[in-house]
Amino acid sequence: MSKWKEAVITRTQDRSPTVRSFWVALPDRERLDFRPGQFLTLDLPISENRRERWRSYSIASPPNETNEAELCIVQLPGGRGTKYLFEEAGAGTQVLTKEPGGVFTLPERPLDHDLVMVCTGTGVAPFRSMLYQRLPREKRHFHLIFGCRRPEDLLYREEFERLGERYPNFTYTTTLSRELPGETTSFEALAGYVHQVYQRDYATPRSDLRFYLCGWSAMVDEARASLLGMGYAEQQVILELYG
Ligand SMILES: Cc1cc2nc3c(=O)[nH]c(=O)nc-3n(C[C@H](O)[C@H](O)[C@H](O)COP(=O)(O)OP(=O)(O)OC[C@H]3O[C@@H](n4cnc5c(N)ncnc54)[C@H](O)[C@@H]3O)c2cc1C
Repeated sequence: MSKWKEAVITRTQDRSPTVRSFWVALPDRERLDFRPGQFLTLDLPISENRRERWRSYSIASPPNETNEAELCIVQLPGGRGTKYLFEEAGAGTQVLTKEPGGVFTLPERPLDHDLVMVCTGTGVAPFRSMLYQRLPREKRHFHLIFGCRRPEDLLYREEFERLGERYPNFTYTTTLSRELPGETTSFEALAGYVHQVYQRDYATPRSDLRFYLCGWSAMVDEARASLLGMGYAEQQVILELYG
């Protein structure tokens, strides 16, 4: 049996000037089973060489009763896979995918530690999936620290704000490195980068904290080094590297 499955893009939605959600369905089943934090690997028709065609995308939606997963993807200038997805693929496009994979997941048991999620850009995808699944049933505190360049890049901002209003154990902090919200917008964001937030809020190491970091190496490597330098142990810092 092939490990590659036939899948179909059922719909897309622009999330920001450079980010688009793609819903991918696996027609061979009624329900797609996965753990929040896992990703799908797609085989895109962009090269003769099989291995050059594979691109992984974290699942941004929580497990539900459907056979679909939402992937939240940024178009990279010069990127071959994202050029195909943004310019050629759309509703009805067939793609091949592997079963959901990856170990960037939360323990299945109720958490016995607080969780700090640090991300930039589409690195927020696995955290959205985790938060929707876990907030309704967890007592421990979740803090999402999300960094972008400009206000329009703050993916799912209104959703996270609603989660913050609904769950007292959820805090949502945003940082913007290039441009702050204008006077007519109603939300606040800090100027700068994600690092200043966890360095300020978690300056004193605690053994009942875990940091989950997700995104590209520039941010993830810096955050990991910073947290270890602050006195956190290796096993308290869990990573998902996009590249
Ligand atoms: C486990 C996993 C999960 C992932 N999940 C997502 C996801 O949910 N959403 C998403 O958008 N991407 C995600 N990625 C990244 C994705 O797999 C591709 O690498 C990305 O879409 C670029 O593919 P491309 O073919 O367009 O670019 P390529 O033609 O492969 O070239 C891109 C080049 O630019 C580098 N690069 C890629 N992104 C950046 C960046 N932001 N800044 C600077 N340099 C960069 C790469 O290392 C590479 O050298 C994930 C990667 C992994 C490993």
